[in-house]
Order: sequence, then structure tokens, then C-alpha cells
Amino acid sequence: MLDAAVAAIGSGLNQYPPGPGVPALLSAVAEHQSRFYGLATDPAREVLVTVGATEAIAATVLALVRPGDEVVTFEPYYDSYAATIALAGGVRRTSVLRFPDFAVDEESLRAAFSARTRVVLLNSPHNPTGKVFTREELELVASLAVEHDAWVVTDEVYEHLTFDGAEHVPLATLPGMRERTLTISSAGKTFSTTGWKVGWVSGPAEAVAAVRAVKQFLTYVGSGPFQHAVAVGLGLGDEVYAGLASSLQAKRDRLVSGLRAAGMEVSVPQGTYFVIADAAPLGASDAVTFCHELPERAGVVGVPVSVFHDDADAARTLVRFAFCKEDEVLDEACRRLAALRTG
Ligand SMILES: *Cc1c(COP(=O)(O)O)cnc(C)c1O
Repeated sequence: MLDAAVAAIGSGLNQYPPGPGVPALLSAVAEHQSRFYGLATDPAREVLVTVGATEAIAATVLALVRPGDEVVTFEPYYDSYAATIALAGGVRRTSVLRFPDFAVDEESLRAAFSARTRVVLLNSPHNPTGKVFTREELELVASLAVEHDAWVVTDEVYEHLTFDGAEHVPLATLPGMRERTLTISSAGKTFSTTGWKVGWVSGPAEAVAAVRAVKQFLTYVGSGPFQHAVAVGLGLGDEVYAGLASSLQAKRDRLVSGLRAAGMEVSVPQGTYFVIADAAPLGASDAVTFCHELPERAGVVGVPVSVFHDDADAARTLVRFAFCKEDEVLDEACRRLAALRTG
């Protein structure tokens, strides 16, 4: 895949690509949706290439949400969601996923919906919790979206990074949902190429056309030569995808046991490359202060989970750590954290 990017640059593919994306990548995305999920997708009308998933999310929310419309999402949420909903003039309505199991709370999810719900913005596998939504949870989200005639926008950038056989179910595959779902993903997380910023959105042709109209004036196009390389990457064999997930699963196990050995309660993630741990046993009473001091105290960086929340109290002492690192780095970080233990 890296060679394909070099070759694309060397062969002169360095000008603006076509607005919707290069044809090879549009076809590769459609083929990927069919191969992994059985979702028949027309590459010419139902796929749009974007500057990462971030632009796909922004262009989609800006296309669908009118000022005053409500957007339902789970918190903690990926940080761009709140900003993007605000840019569209939308109103964020959330349902909290709580440590340590982060299960969907049906009552609070129902309460987040109203007659003004326009979009449900769903991320699975979920950053920052590492949660992979179960089919039953997705069915609940789907039924509420139908009941309120809302669009569903799914952020599936970690679709291939799942562990322990956990099944990633794209919401668009549930009965009746394809026609009201825009599915977003990206090459960044799957292929460890976050700097390339190649993402895409797929869904019903009219909705994708609306997203394209917004994208036209955000960036128009991006990542020309890298689009050709990602087309190659998406076509790689099943063993490549399986290898990515299993090497990350081993790193997850390593960090989870290291954090536990350091005295922390840990939520074991079924996807992504993040793990959430409770830093209270290390003396944290507020994860924001704790994380701010951690680089100097231990040479370790974590992110306070409260920054992904509207309700900071839902995550007072919780910290997100990443395990997409060399084994020695993970081991050393855990050793240093263990030295902070207070009790
Ligand atoms: C990293 C990430 C993104 C952004 O993806 P890009 O392709 O880099 O823009 C979007 N959503 C979630 C949940 C992420 O973790």
C-alpha cells in the first residue's frame, strides 16, 4: 500500500482528483461494503471520498442538520461531534455510557429522542470506550430512529479493529435501515495511515449527493495520490485484515494486564486501540489535573475521559490510554504508572 502511494506520486497523479473521488477507490469502497457486509453499493452514486472520516462527519451533519434540529449521540463522544453539530446550528442530545461496561441505557436513550430529532450520530466500535455495540443495542437505536423518522450517521473507522471475535455490525445492514443510514469510515485507523486523511461516506444516492454538495465547499477534494493507494489497501486479502486485529489484540492484553498490575480498574475494550482505566488508585481525584501532570511525573500521556463528556461527573477519575504502541513502550509505561500507586 505504501509502495502504491509512492508509485502514484511518481507516475504523476498529483493534481486534483475527481470531485467524488478517484474511480478506483469508489469501486474499492463499494466492493469492501459488499465483501464484508453484503451491502450492495453503487460506486458511481452511493459513495463519496472525503478528507478523512472527520470531513465526512462534518459534511454529512452540515448537509442534514438545520438550525434547531436535534442530534442524538452517546457520550462520551468523539470530540469533533460536538463541534460539528454546533457548526450546523444543531442541538446535541446525549445518552451516557457508564464505566465499566458502557452498556446502552434504554431509558436515557429514549429520553434523548424528540419530535425534533433529525440525526442519530453513532460510533461503533466506539472511541473512547472501545465498546462494540451489540446487535440488540443497534436494533434499539434503529427502532428509535425509525419511530422518529431520523437519519442515522455511523462512524465506523474502527470497523476492522475488533477483538475476541466481537462482531462489528454496520447499522445499515439492519432491516429497513439502509435507506436512512449514511455509513462513514476511513483508511487511517485500519491501515495505520492516519496522516493520509482518506475517508468515505456511503449510503442512498440522494443523501450522498447532498453531502457532496457540502464537501464541494469545504475542501472540494483531497489526498489525490493516496486515494489510489487506499484502493489497493482495501482490496488486500482477509489475512491482512485479520493480522491487523490480532496484533492489536495482543497489545490490548498487554496494556490491560499492565494497568491492572499498576492497581487500576480497567474496562476491557472489544475494539479500537483505546482502553479506559480508573486512575483513582494512583491518587487521581480529577483526571484532568492528573493527566496534565502525568507527562512530567511519569513520562506517560493519557486523556481524561471527561473531555469527551457533557457531564464531566460521569468520568471524574477515568483516563483513556492508547495501545497502538511498541510492546516495550507499553511495558515501560505500565511500570512507571505502577510507581505512582498510593495505596
Ligand atoms: C480518528 C477518528 C476519526 C477521524 O478519522 P480521520 O479519517 O482521521 O478523519 C473519526 N471518528 C473517530 C471515532 C475516530 O477515532
